[in-house]
Amino acid sequence: MIVHGLLKDIERLTRVRVNEPLSRHTTFGIGGPADIYVVAESEESLCEMVRLAHQHGVPVFILGAGSNILVGDGGIRGMVIENNVASIQGPEPDGDDRYIARVGSGTSFASVSRRLSLAGWAGVEWAVGIPGTIGGAVIYNAGAYNRCTADVLISARTVDGDGRVRELAAADLKLAYRSSIFNRGQLPGHVVLSADLSLTKGDPKALADQIAKFDAHRLMAQPRGQNCGSIFKNPEGQSAWSLVDRVGLRGHRIGNAQISQIHTNFILNLGRASAADVMALIRLAQERAWSEFNVKLETEVSLVGEGFSER
Ligand SMILES: Cc1cc2nc3c(=O)[nH]c(=O)nc-3n(C[C@H](O)[C@H](O)[C@H](O)COP(=O)(O)OP(=O)(O)OC[C@H]3O[C@@H](n4cnc5c(N)ncnc54)[C@H](O)[C@@H]3O)c2cc1C
Repeated sequence: MIVHGLLKDIERLTRVRVNEPLSRHTTFGIGGPADIYVVAESEESLCEMVRLAHQHGVPVFILGAGSNILVGDGGIRGMVIENNVASIQGPEPDGDDRYIARVGSGTSFASVSRRLSLAGWAGVEWAVGIPGTIGGAVIYNAGAYNRCTADVLISARTVDGDGRVRELAAADLKLAYRSSIFNRGQLPGHVVLSADLSLTKGDPKALADQIAKFDAHRLMAQPRGQNCGSIFKNPEGQSAWSLVDRVGLRGHRIGNAQISQIHTNFILNLGRASAADVMALIRLAQERAWSEFNVKLETEVSLVGEGFSER
């Protein structure tokens, strides 16, 4: 779906790529082509791109760091906007001992966490290994080490296809385990522009030590290579990795995708894996967990675009 009117308008704003392979833009290294691919470097251009697509009736997919998506081999119809809107304002005092930092939605959560923590700001040190953007973290309520985005999020600014900017309090986003009103489809067409995070003053040395511990833990517990982090959500009271392990799938390979030997809730692209290879592993794990333990394994990774066969 290439709408020439949109192409003409968008080309006035930025460089446009047509039929861009999304395997180049996801941490999995997997995904078919986007009809139209553009990069937003400022909040103004992000808003304008969203508005133009809406005006031309072209669907928009916002791509953060591509670290929690499996894009189908058929790719994504419409326009993919890579969100590179990176900024940090503050932290500014906000009464008592609380401070607020406003972070642009395309900023890397890992780098914001490291930068703020090493400067002595406490609150987001647990996010030092989360490779996605702040926008993605709001969508999924990203978390680690028993902490999550909801613990520090005060509010998020969004824009819709008509260019309306809104500020939504964190409570209105109904953040839950790896979900929010955004990925539950309750606020369609809204793009996160920025997030206000609550911080306190901390001890830079203690925060640096904490970060070093988190880094060391990830190095030890998680595999290298192309992946999208956890494939499955942990079912209530259970660990997804343990279920996948107990159904005998550690190291199991289909095509060029493999369940990691190191962490069985990770699937690795061994090189040129297709989304179909990954889906076959996901379905196999789901079927076995259901037949052997009566447990439904729900994906944490989002399946987006075309090429996933119905079953
Ligand atoms: C090695 C590795 C380790 C990981 N560890 C963790 C972890 O410890 N904890 C954790 O929670 N996650 C983890 N993840 C998963 C991932 O980093 C998070 O889910 C992250 O929040 C996704 O952000 P993203 O920018 O990559 O989103 P993307 O994958 O680019 O997008 C995901 C979805 O969010 C939507 N989206 C993104 N930005 C916006 C926006 N600004 N407005 C509207 N919609 C938007 C997209 O349209 C898409 O539907 C890990 C991933 C990897 C690869």
